[in-house]
This record gives sequence, C-alpha cells and structure tokens, in this order.
Amino acid sequence: MNQRQIALGAEYLRQGRLVAFPTETVYGLGANAWDAAAVRQIFAAKGRPADNPLIVHIADYATLDQVVDHIPPAACALMQAFWPGPLSLVLPKKKQVPAIVTAGLDTVAVRWPNHPVAEALIRQAQVPVAAPSANRSGRPSPTLAQHVAADLGEAVDLIIDAGMVAIGLESTVVDMTGSEPILLRPGAVTIEDLTKIVGPVSRAGYAPEQPVRSPGMKYAHYAPQAPLYLYLGEPSTVVQAQLGKAAELASQNQRVGILTYDQFAAKFSAYTPLSLGQYDEPAQAAQKLYQQLRRFDELNVDVILAHGYPSEAGLGLALQNRLIKAAGFRLVWV
Ligand code: AMP
Ligand code: MG
Repeated sequence: MNQRQIALGAEYLRQGRLVAFPTETVYGLGANAWDAAAVRQIFAAKGRPADNPLIVHIADYATLDQVVDHIPPAACALMQAFWPGPLSLVLPKKKQVPAIVTAGLDTVAVRWPNHPVAEALIRQAQVPVAAPSANRSGRPSPTLAQHVAADLGEAVDLIIDAGMVAIGLESTVVDMTGSEPILLRPGAVTIEDLTKIVGPVSRAGYAPEQPVRSPGMKYAHYAPQAPLYLYLGEPSTVVQAQLGKAAELASQNQRVGILTYDQFAAKFSAYTPLSLGQYDEPAQAAQKLYQQLRRFDELNVDVILAHGYPSEAGLGLALQNRLIKAAGFRLVWV
C-alpha cells in the first residue's frame, strides 16, 4: 500500500482537490463532501448532469453520524451485515451536507468501502468523501487506474493506483427511507443477501411516467462507443443468432465486436471476440465487463453483439442490469 500517496491524497482532499482512488467496486473520484466548490469540480471533470447525486464514502461511524440524520433499525442491520462492503444506503441527510452532493434531495447515499487504500485515505482526510465512479459520464466505470487517466487526465489531481478492482461493478444501492427497502441499483450485495437480513426488498424500475427515485437510473450508462446489441435467450440459440448477424454485418464491411464467454469464443474467430470468462462464473464476468467494453473502443469496432448473462440470480442480476444499460435498451430476444 502506497502510504505516501495516501497521505498526499488526504491532504489534497482537505485542500478541496480531486483524488481518484481504488475501492473494491470500481475506482472513485473523490472530493471533500463538506466542500461544495470541490464537489462541483467532480461534476465538471466527469461531465456529469447536476441532477445525478453522489455517494458519500465514510470509514467510521462518527463521520456517518455527521452526514445522516438518523439510521432506521433495518439500515443499521444492513450496515452490520455488509459494511465495509459494496452496499450504499440512501438515508435522510443532515442539513450540513451541501445540496450539490445530493442533487438537491433531502436524502444521501452513504457507503463504507471495503478497500484498505480507500479506508486509509478517508480516515486520514478526516472528512466524508463524496465520490462517483471516476469515469467520464456515460462511459464504463473504471476498473483500472489507467481507465481513470484515459477518461479524466488533467482534471484529476491525483490517481492512486492499486491495480485491478476486485468486484468490477458499482455498489448495490438501497433506499432505506420508506417503510420497505427499495433496491435502486443491483450490485455485489445481492437481493438474496439483503432479504436474509431485512426481509422483502422491492425493486425500482425506471418507467418514464414514474417519478425517478434514483436520479442515476434515467441516464444511459456504462456504454462503449459502438452500439451494443444484447442477445437474450437459450445459449446455443444466442450463439447462432450472433453468428448470423455478424456474417450479415461483416458483408457490409462493418467491424463486428462479439462479447461472449470462453466456451463460445472460438466460434467467432472471424470477427473480434472478447470474453467475459466462464459462462457460469458471474464474479469473473463482473470483474471483466467494463474492461472488455473499453477494449472494444480501442479495437474500433463498429458494432458489438453481446451475449446476455444466462441467469439473473445472485450477481447475475447486477451483470444483466449493466449489460442492458450498455445496450441502451437495444435488446434482441432469440
Ligand atoms: P455513481 O457513483 O457514479 O455510480 O453514482 C451514484 C448513484 O447512486 C447515482 O447515480 C444514483 O443512482 C445513486 N444515488 C446517490 N444518491 C442517491 C440518493 N440520495 N437517492 C437515490 N439514489 C442515489
Ligand atoms: Mg458512475
């Protein structure tokens, strides 16, 4: 662990500068949450719409108490079960939290990340750290420090590099302000995990006529540059459909990227296949997803035909959610 970089990062945060840092989910772009001017720079650096709130990162309960107004018993139980970890909880905010952090909402999303560098940085800074993912808005989240540098370059004052992240998908977000917990974004803490601790959890879906519960839900996200078509169905049927479409597109001189799994990759050698690992290893697929989406950009493909994740159980739900967002709802059922 690079103690010197952590100490420098903590000093930068206190000075109102931006620091990109590793967490177990993805790299974050942090600023002192008390400093509205510093937080404003996050939105500028990312090109992030101002109505998309940030998650406030803490690494001790005393700081949490300065940020949230109160903690309902169910939220307390989730913290005990999953913190530090990939779970963000939406709670009533204290007045002192600047409006820019929460996009004007009277709630704040909070998380205690499970990463030694993130924890040391936040503790040494002695402030809560507002941090979205450290990518340009709309791009896949960074799972390597190089992704942060490629997206944000000079806009970030320091990037602390700790290699590849462990999980690779953003945290689970749960709204704890109502009578029943609401899953706003699936992640590595699964709906099954949550239910074991707090009972039924409802799921928010974004429909244009409904009020947006989680502002981030309305944006196209995680997208590579080329349009991505997500194929859903029985595995061998999906592979056949991808092969058929790829041949058609290649005959029109399109460079075709294929997102697939190890078991099927060899069938696509005439095109540009990238694998998410073994078909039945969701943790592997999660860790690789954003890196592979970014690789398609480097390979300059014109179109991506992606094989959907086969199961929505456990981590599969989060994976499929990100694939659907990367597809911008270009879904092909076969
Ligand atoms: P990012 O860190 O870039 O993944 O973005 C954080 C996401 O957390 C936002 O896009 C929202 O979906 C969600 N979020 C943060 N704060 C709140 C809040 N107060 N209420 C609901 N959702 C939130
Ligand atoms: Mg993000």
